[in-house]
Amino acid sequence: MNRTMAGVWKIILLNIFIVSARSSVMKDTKVYSAMGNHDYHPKNQMPPEKNNIYEQTANLWHDWLQAASKETFKIGGYYTEKLLNQTGLRVMVLNTNLYYDQNKLTENIKDPADQFSWADKVLQDAAKNNEKVYIIGHVPPGFFEKKRDKAWFRKEFNKRYIDLIQKHSAIIQGQFFGHHHTDSFRMFYSSKGSPISAMFLTPGVTPWITTLPGVIDGGNNPGIRMFQYDTKTLLIKDIITYYMNLTYSNVAHERWEKEYRLTEAFRVPDASPASMHRVMERISTDKCYLQKYFEFNSVNYDLTECHADCRIDHVCAMREVDFEAYEKCVVKEGGSSTAPVLFTLLLSLMLSLLCLS
Ligand SMILES: [Zn+2]
Repeated sequence: MNRTMAGVWKIILLNIFIVSARSSVMKDTKVYSAMGNHDYHPKNQMPPEKNNIYEQTANLWHDWLQAASKETFKIGGYYTEKLLNQTGLRVMVLNTNLYYDQNKLTENIKDPADQFSWADKVLQDAAKNNEKVYIIGHVPPGFFEKKRDKAWFRKEFNKRYIDLIQKHSAIIQGQFFGHHHTDSFRMFYSSKGSPISAMFLTPGVTPWITTLPGVIDGGNNPGIRMFQYDTKTLLIKDIITYYMNLTYSNVAHERWEKEYRLTEAFRVPDASPASMHRVMERISTDKCYLQKYFEFNSVNYDLTECHADCRIDHVCAMREVDFEAYEKCVVKEGGSSTAPVLFTLLLSLMLSLLCLS
């Protein structure tokens, strides 16, 4: 067996292990699984056509995929189903690894595996059938909040993804992505600037320490998350994050505990796009909320202070998914701190005291 074949089988065996572990603890739970950039060998190189790994993964996920889902999955790693088989509710799982700029196989392709046109059709049909939709994926569009100017998608794919969300925002009730291992979210706005959709970046169970150059101490505590939603409208009502404090667990014993509840921590009624916009505005204008968000971002791992540059990185990544709008945000937010140093120091001291109360 050559090295590539050995790598392919390692990935398949690893996935078999994960699927059986997950199945044994969640016997009666329907699972909607999306492929990550490390679920392939060589990593990130997801092909825009049929291949052995999509085929083997579709077989492995047999209990989770309906027959029609298996067919599209084998072509491009994506699928759609009625959410929990219920009329009016839909889930669309994307393979956004096809848009990752590290993926050399999709570099010069306009619509890899025809996923964009497929997704557009799925959402058009969903609108006709009065369905509400959740979108699930792995690699998110927009920017990494821990490193300035670090985007994942190729530029043209990033634009096309935003267009898709803007076009169908009336029926999209939530987007759920990962990849960062951190806890954050991304806002999507209409061309007139009103909040139309939010993407939730769920922290990882694996305490990844990033290998990205320039990111200092970029680790996270393991986290898992529960979304509470309206079972008729799919409005996300609340988000509760649980975590394991590794420092504590290493010296004492393994302990999972509640980290925070969105509506309590940020004083919003729910996790609708309008509420998430308010959360984002609070983080961007109030030092206490910024610090609270920053500690949640690493799942309570990095408890240092989020200073001016850190604030810009996080706020602009949350607010602007579009490449050009992000650049403008960085310039604008960077130029807004013109207050004299002493005044800023006094103000931040006062605010730190207020945060404690
Ligand atoms: Zn990833």
